[in-house]
Amino acid sequence: MRVKCYLLGKVMNFRARQQRFQHILEQQGLNYFAVTHMPNVRYLCGFTGSAGVLAFARDQSRSWKLALFTDGRYAQQAREQAVGAKVAIARGPALIAAAEWMCGSSRKPAIVGFEAEHMSVASSRGLTRAVAKIRLKPTSSLVENLRMIKDADEVARIRSAVTLASKVFDAVLADIKPGVSENRIAAEIEYLSRRMGAEGMSFETLVAGGLRSALPHGVASSNPIPTTGFVILDFGVILAGYCSDMTRTVHMGQPDEASRKMYAAVLKAQLAGIEAVTVGVKTEEVDCAARKVLRKSGLGRYFTHSTGHGVGLEIHEPPGLRMAPAGRKRPKVPAKNSSQLLEAGMVITIEPGVYIPRVGGVRIEDMVLVTERGCEVLTPTKKELLVI
Ligand code: ZN
Ligand code: ZN
Repeated sequence: MRVKCYLLGKVMNFRARQQRFQHILEQQGLNYFAVTHMPNVRYLCGFTGSAGVLAFARDQSRSWKLALFTDGRYAQQAREQAVGAKVAIARGPALIAAAEWMCGSSRKPAIVGFEAEHMSVASSRGLTRAVAKIRLKPTSSLVENLRMIKDADEVARIRSAVTLASKVFDAVLADIKPGVSENRIAAEIEYLSRRMGAEGMSFETLVAGGLRSALPHGVASSNPIPTTGFVILDFGVILAGYCSDMTRTVHMGQPDEASRKMYAAVLKAQLAGIEAVTVGVKTEEVDCAARKVLRKSGLGRYFTHSTGHGVGLEIHEPPGLRMAPAGRKRPKVPAKNSSQLLEAGMVITIEPGVYIPRVGGVRIEDMVLVTERGCEVLTPTKKELLVI
């Protein structure tokens, strides 16, 4: 608990982030920008509410002004939290109020950058209809690209979230027994997480036992844990705003030879993925390293998702460790962002898995911090096959 209070009380360096973002806007030739994606708003000014728009405007003297537009529910919270931005409580839609503020100082039509991935067609149409002087310019992942590299405060928060989740995993093992429903185990995981200080779960808890372990995204069901077979547990907690993500697969009863081999192959692939992580490596090379091990074991076709993803304020954020192309053939047109290079300070998951329909599945997932000399595995939980 002491760790959590300390972390929550610590003010992150929002002004430095704002300056870095303003520099990016200048490079893009943008004098106005509306941040509408709430994790991005939080990252840039500290406001944790569920609705609001952070507006950037550069005046004639070339200096930047920031304003956070939100609604009456958040009047007090926004004033307490927002760093480096004036707070305005909008009577109507915050986006229109923000646009009017940005366009107000401009005589000519104002070109306002917006986050294309996070604005609906209806919102952008409503905006151009309501504010005559606005010209919208779509942009992609400008804040997300900054967020990929975690600063020391963020790494500390992520570390705390990962540690908490590992303790939850250790504690919940006692509840995994044949006949207990997956839902019951998920409930224990979530209850323990909140009791140990988590603000919430990063995503819907996955508990998939027996034949259901062949589902790569097996949300907990009312099915009972079987007397024999794999059980996949994949969950994450949110602590001080930051997410964790871990998967462990345990086996009920003594595993047969095929199951042991399957587990060993996934573990070997996971370790190969971790081994491949270092500064300057392409994300798809990490995927390739893990996938190669499973192909050699004859299990490649059962590894049906990518090897991992970035984690931070959101459970899935850039960079994605996208799937390497199958076989030796390279695609003629490289996949978008396939040349994303790993940089120090990125936090990613390494989570290969094998899912054999009507048999079962195994996934092992850790979070790692990319460092100059490779990576640091943040998840402390052991990975040897646990037999219950
Ligand atoms: Zn996961
Ligand atoms: Zn994950």
